[in-house]
Amino acid sequence: MSVVLHQEPLAPRTSFRLGGPARILIEADRDDEIESILREQGTAPLFVLGGGSNLLVADRGYDGLVLAIRSRGVSLRRDGDAVLVTAAAGEPWDDLVARCVEEGLAGIECLSGIPGQVGATPIQNVGAYGQEVSDTLVAVHAYDRMQGQRVSLRPEECSFAYRDSAFKSQWPGRYVILSVVFRLRPGLPDAPRYGELIAALGDEPPTLGRLRSLVIELRRRKGMILDEGDPDTRSAGSFFTNPILEPAAWAAFQDRIAPQLHPGERIPSFDGGGGRIKLAAAWLIERAGFSRGFQRGGAAVSSRHALALVNRGGSAADVLALAREIQQGVREAFGVELTPEPVLLGF
Ligand SMILES: Cc1cc2nc3c(=O)[nH]c(=O)nc-3n(C[C@H](O)[C@H](O)[C@H](O)COP(=O)(O)OP(=O)(O)OC[C@H]3O[C@@H](n4cnc5c(N)ncnc54)[C@H](O)[C@@H]3O)c2cc1C
Repeated sequence: MSVVLHQEPLAPRTSFRLGGPARILIEADRDDEIESILREQGTAPLFVLGGGSNLLVADRGYDGLVLAIRSRGVSLRRDGDAVLVTAAAGEPWDDLVARCVEEGLAGIECLSGIPGQVGATPIQNVGAYGQEVSDTLVAVHAYDRMQGQRVSLRPEECSFAYRDSAFKSQWPGRYVILSVVFRLRPGLPDAPRYGELIAALGDEPPTLGRLRSLVIELRRRKGMILDEGDPDTRSAGSFFTNPILEPAAWAAFQDRIAPQLHPGERIPSFDGGGGRIKLAAAWLIERAGFSRGFQRGGAAVSSRHALALVNRGGSAADVLALAREIQQGVREAFGVELTPEPVLLGF
């Protein structure tokens, strides 16, 4: 049954706990209801809300319709030597990861502890600790608002990239995701690829359960596990993506930063694909003078991770002002542009 609410506060529905109300909010827990709301709405603007963990809502709220997806359900089907896991868009992502780990299915265990719902994971190709949903995703079932019909998209059609997809960059607002299908492997996980996780595992053989618990432990230390009692988690996780530089920009960056490096100091940098280099945004932020705990008004840099901006009893405007200040500081210091990761609504 769908529930219609008027002037519904959005702040409690976001991990930042910030922002004003939605003029109308409809909660829908069945695909046919979601589809009929979308049909009625045609191509008029609306905002699709998942778990609100990658979202900053303006203090004045959103003067439109918010469709909150609450559909649930997971099904497993054998497919050769793999298992196809289909999960409804409204399933909490981490419940799905926990269930797959329990069932002995490998492929998403390093994505443990990430808040939000399954339906949002393809939007920015959710990733962490060496895995991304695009590694195992085989289909996205969605409602296409432009064609007015349900469709199934294959991963090749979704242009998945680092914290990006066609849903985010080419077709924002066009598809409402109803369910996602993952192809997982029964058995032991692959050896972890992420340095910090490899180090934490040490000589232990990786098991699904051990990787899940280690990832959660590492995330908790950084304030990256939602916890009402942990003020560093009133955030949207990382506020900026790690910038990816073309080879020429990387060379210019190295020249610019060389005089500032201590003897033997290495710039944290990673393979960004296609000859490009991915920089660590957290390092740039700290080097530009915004250390952990730096506070401006009611917003701050998390005291445990320089990439997360947190709400310290302020407003959405405070968070955005701090984000702009950091962007400007990093631009002036290094000539590098930081791109916000969360979706900004109503600004
Ligand atoms: C503490 C913390 C840690 C985090 N760690 C990570 C991390 O390690 N890696 C990572 O990638 N992200 C991370 N995030 C960000 C966030 O959890 C993910 O991006 C998550 O997938 C967002 O899901 P959500 O349901 O909360 O989406 P929302 O915030 O509700 O929405 C985000 C976007 O997805 C769209 N959307 C949501 N559901 C649907 C749907 N069914 N159909 C179409 N569009 C939809 C919304 O319209 C919006 O544009 C973290 C966030 C927090 C607070």
